[in-house]
Amino acid sequence: MQKNALEIDGRRLWETLEASGEIGKLRDTGLRRLALSDSDREIRDTFCAWARQAGCTVTVDQVGNIFARRAGTDDSLPAIATGSHLDSQMCGGKYDGVLGVMSGLEVLRTLNDRGVETKRPIEVVVWSNEEGARFTPPMQGSLAFVGDLTLDQVLASTDADGVQFGDELRRIGYDGATMLGESKFDSYLELHIEQGPVLDRIGIDIGIVVSGFKSRGLRIAVTGKTAHVGPTPMDERQNALVGAAYLITEVDAIGWRHHPQGGKTTTPRISCFPNLPGIIAETAELTVDFRHPDPEVADQMLEEIRAAMVTASEKANVSMEIVESWMFGDNPFSDACIQTLEETADTMGVSYMEIRSQAGHDAYAIGKIAPMGMIFTPCNGGISHNVAESIELDKTLPGVNLLLNTIVKIANR
Ligand SMILES: [Zn+2]
Repeated sequence: MQKNALEIDGRRLWETLEASGEIGKLRDTGLRRLALSDSDREIRDTFCAWARQAGCTVTVDQVGNIFARRAGTDDSLPAIATGSHLDSQMCGGKYDGVLGVMSGLEVLRTLNDRGVETKRPIEVVVWSNEEGARFTPPMQGSLAFVGDLTLDQVLASTDADGVQFGDELRRIGYDGATMLGESKFDSYLELHIEQGPVLDRIGIDIGIVVSGFKSRGLRIAVTGKTAHVGPTPMDERQNALVGAAYLITEVDAIGWRHHPQGGKTTTPRISCFPNLPGIIAETAELTVDFRHPDPEVADQMLEEIRAAMVTASEKANVSMEIVESWMFGDNPFSDACIQTLEETADTMGVSYMEIRSQAGHDAYAIGKIAPMGMIFTPCNGGISHNVAESIELDKTLPGVNLLLNTIVKIANR
């Protein structure tokens, strides 16, 4: 690395990551830290304590987003923000999101160690409920921050047991007083593991993200009628679960049709009622996810799914309705951020490739209100949303050091 580039303390970052992975630990190597659960409270408390020890002022907004701020020499200027999320999937890994937050913290600790002041303030942000594993849609905290979701929409959303987001937020003590969107960002940089195999396979230090796949989510309600599984003739049934099954296979077929161009479809979730032996299902609910590198084709896939809903509901004699939908990934990444990241990487001698993001990230939403850029670091085998998710420190350091030096550059410009 170039001599005048700043370097973080890799061992401290690693120890911080490992300590954070003890909270909500699952099956030795993984994580189950669902949004607004007790373990989410514990990691939030831990992060806030670490941030205060690093001299930060910590504030929490109305949906529980946390802002740890290091003052600038001209503190009236908008902050350079960085961060990610600390919640996990039901069976997740301990680096997805966490690496971005703890890297931000490590950047601040490093600046403190070196006595480096910056003209603009720096904020490390923890966004609420990025994963959407408990409350939908995903990326609720960042979407609400930029006004794409209202406060009421977020607070009223419920988990599978009918528990409200607002009640859980209050229970864990993170119903903050700061108004949504109050923090103003000069720019936003998020570091995240790639969650795909490209960097690991090619052996390049980092990916600088230039765009995302347009991604859509749908929650589809299927309505049939309960009846006895014995005497009810096959031609008199309205089995919601059968309608859902027809739709699932059709959605999968749509994904395969778009596979050659990189399109993907998934039905990751199904629930049904009453879900008991002896009775035909009255209702079913599906979550459908679809993504495509070409935004126009992603829109066309929606029409294909709508058509599949008609076919599947006729075949099963049930009705289907889209009750919630969301979209992300087509926000433009900032050319200025990409350029600054690439220039900084060049001067540091860090190898990089331009890459497209296929997952959802809080950064997408923030791109609406501030110049935004993302750094991807390699994860072994591209494994993510799995307890076997893993990274190596020496392959992670170039990305974190790039984050550090780019933040300082932008904060002092
Ligand atoms: Zn993530």
